[in-house]
Amino acid sequence: MKTETASRPIPASPERWHDADDIRWAARQWAARIGVPLRSITLRPMSRKWASISTAGRLTLDTALLDLDRDLGEFVVVHELVHLLCPGAGHGRVFTSFMAAYLPDWTERLSRLDAITQALPGSVRGGAANSDPKINRRT
Ligand SMILES: [Zn+2]
Repeated sequence: MKTETASRPIPASPERWHDADDIRWAARQWAARIGVPLRSITLRPMSRKWASISTAGRLTLDTALLDLDRDLGEFVVVHELVHLLCPGAGHGRVFTSFMAAYLPDWTERLSRLDAITQALPGSVRGGAANSDPKINRRT
């Protein structure tokens, strides 16, 4: 029987988050893996940064992350959790070493997030010229 392979490959659409619970679940998984306490996860619109975390482990994420590729949200989550791992280290070498350990391609993700940040209307979140993506100004 001749079977026409009419099934064209489905265009690879970037993997997106299903909903807020999806990113919450991922954040909890990452907190467990990194070994830091995550007390709460709040999603709300944020205008000046993608996320923040308190030393007590209260994570706040910009709801806009839900509209981006999963790996960018994941990068933001890991970035915040690594702050708990080395409080006071800022974005220095200790911090970047941990990032590289958990997300070997973190710089590529940062570049993509920076490009998106730059493209935002009236961007106030910093940008590519600034190596700090203003993910967290609390450090
Ligand atoms: Zn940070």
